[in-house]
Amino acid sequence: MCNNQEGRTAIITGSARGIGKAIALKLASRKINIAVVDVLLEDAQKTADELSSLGITSRAYKADISNFTETESLIKKIFEDFGKIDILVNNAGITRDNLIIKMTEEDWDKVININLKGVFNCIKCVSRILMKNRWGRIINISSVVGVMGNAGQLNYSASKAGVIGMTKSAAKELASRNITCNAIAPGFIKTAMTDKLPEIERQRLESMIPLKKLGEPEDIANATAFLASDEASYITGQVLLVDGGMVM
Ligand code: NAD
Repeated sequence: MCNNQEGRTAIITGSARGIGKAIALKLASRKINIAVVDVLLEDAQKTADELSSLGITSRAYKADISNFTETESLIKKIFEDFGKIDILVNNAGITRDNLIIKMTEEDWDKVININLKGVFNCIKCVSRILMKNRWGRIINISSVVGVMGNAGQLNYSASKAGVIGMTKSAAKELASRNITCNAIAPGFIKTAMTDKLPEIERQRLESMIPLKKLGEPEDIANATAFLASDEASYITGQVLLVDGGMVM
């Protein structure tokens, strides 16, 4: 029964492709209706069409989650369209990697605005709806580098560590309304984000991972589906590392 969450509605940010799309497909297999949110409307529409063909209701929305006003209107529209919101997956994120001495203020602002403020915007706008619902799941996609740091990713690791702090505070604030809030910290996963890595860097990374391979987007999707389910009802404020054993 817990694998079937028929009738529930999930918002997944950045779900036009990559990890977000894998999460959407997994939740759709559990009969959850999906709002696909992304800046890439064409790709988001393709994902929503694919999800709809699985027999659930899915719609695509173009929105930049780093913009508060846009996020507020987005959540209002999704609530009107679906009639309810039960699950929020904060997955949208970007990298603008560089060494500290070369990192520009713009690289810092861009990453913090999308990866950190974007998560705040979505949680703030969805919380009232989840509180009235008296059931909710918030799952924030952080990163192992938010836990262990990484040279060349000062902005990104700061944003992902911030997401972990936000997860724990939201978990404490929202627990009395039966809303759980957890973070997933993926290791290195095969997506457009890691396709950019030079082969030598990929080999170096693989040698650092006890399971000796990069993860698949489905590995993150499986963990998300668990945290979104009734089976995870007594888990909140946690960071689940899905990283092939990189951090332990
Ligand atoms: P991706 O670039 O393939 O997908 C990210 C999606 O977010 C894209 O579709 C993009 O258009 C969307 N997006 C970007 N900015 C947005 C904004 N302002 N508003 C709405 N949507 C926006 O990346 P991915 O690898 O699938 O990463 C997904 C999440 O997982 C990110 O938060 C990333 O930081 C995290 N993560 C990825 C890895 C990895 O190895 N790939 C590792 C750890 C964490």
